[in-house]
Amino acid sequence: VGLVSTMALTGKEMIAALNAQSDSVTTVVHNSTSILRYYHTAGMLHSQADVYLSEGDHERAYVMLKKFARMYLLVIAEHNAYNTKQYQSEKFKFKRLCNQALAKIKELKESITTKYDKGFQESKSKATSSPALATPTTTTTTAPAAPTPSTTSTNPLVDQFALLRLGSKGTLPTKDTKSPASPQYPSAPALSHPQPSTTTTTTRPTKPTNPPPTQPAVSNSAAQFSSFRQVLLPQDLTSRFMKLAKYNTSKGNETCGILCGKLAKNQFHITSCILPPQTGSHNKTSTYGEEKLIALQESKGLLTLGWIHTHPTQSCFLSSIDLHTQFSYQAMMPEALAIVMAPTDRRLREGIFSLTKEGMVVIGNCPERGFHPHPNPERLYQQATHVALSRAKTQFYDLRSK
Ligand SMILES: [Zn+2]
Ligand SMILES: [Zn+2]
Repeated sequence: VGLVSTMALTGKEMIAALNAQSDSVTTVVHNSTSILRYYHTAGMLHSQADVYLSEGDHERAYVMLKKFARMYLLVIAEHNAYNTKQYQSEKFKFKRLCNQALAKIKELKESITTKYDKGFQESKSKATSSPALATPTTTTTTAPAAPTPSTTSTNPLVDQFALLRLGSKGTLPTKDTKSPASPQYPSAPALSHPQPSTTTTTTRPTKPTNPPPTQPAVSNSAAQFSSFRQVLLPQDLTSRFMKLAKYNTSKGNETCGILCGKLAKNQFHITSCILPPQTGSHNKTSTYGEEKLIALQESKGLLTLGWIHTHPTQSCFLSSIDLHTQFSYQAMMPEALAIVMAPTDRRLREGIFSLTKEGMVVIGNCPERGFHPHPNPERLYQQATHVALSRAKTQFYDLRSK
């Protein structure tokens, strides 16, 4: 995106576009969801804002801080447990953070407005002094799709891991060529080429029945702040998770892990996988000890980026219970992934899924619990396209009782 098109909005228009994004956060409180989970979600928004601020990305910091303040003021403060004695320390901590955030939002609003007004004036004066510069430039919004084996055209499910590995094979550096700017997060090889900052497609869409994501009506310069951020998945994660799950898998029981990581330069890096205390049966896993899990994540500064679980005897898909679980992850973090490991599924052993927009609406409004049918389940989720493999090594935390 060139300078001219980035600066095409006035300050007021840019603030309106950013507000439209921050105000899309749901403000409905579910008292059945523990307030700790809401505090964790708010904490994740706040720490993402901190990262953007430290990187000088004021527009995204503004959106995150507004999402954070709305979450605290409109959701958490309305929760049944908000005023209970048990959660007083969280209440005071977040009240303080919220007041600081509101002051920062005001400050950012002024600096963003000034920046875009200045750019708008400059592009206008350039346009009048030299009309040739005002010629609209065409910018592509999607990267070319990775080469796909032709055999997959008849198969609706694609082995994404094979594709991702295939895509990275040719470009994998033989020596360690990590960027010195962010040594702890090696980029995915596929990203060593400059990519458009909007939608980056690592595999082609695998469900032709799904309509392509609709582009927001705002211009490119505002749209760049609203697209899904890419998630980098260490290529060792799934195989090492399967080793930890081996005993359960041999008994036909499921195993579950939480995908955690960090934000850097507008990309999520999965760094860790936590196996919480759990009891797994052949078709579902129940985890417990959420307080311990959140405490561990908070002590390590880890964002929740999704989950991984096994289907020891079933095929690779999201069951109705899985869809509801994934909904709560995506409500917390829109880019969250659901990885399903199905060693006995010959079509697809590993799947990386996320709910579609339609899926988020349908599941969010579904009052059923336990296994139950959903109409048109194939429209509710799809193979995630905002993921790429990285050469990072996964840190595992196994909290299961031995
Ligand atoms: Zn499942
Ligand atoms: Zn349901």
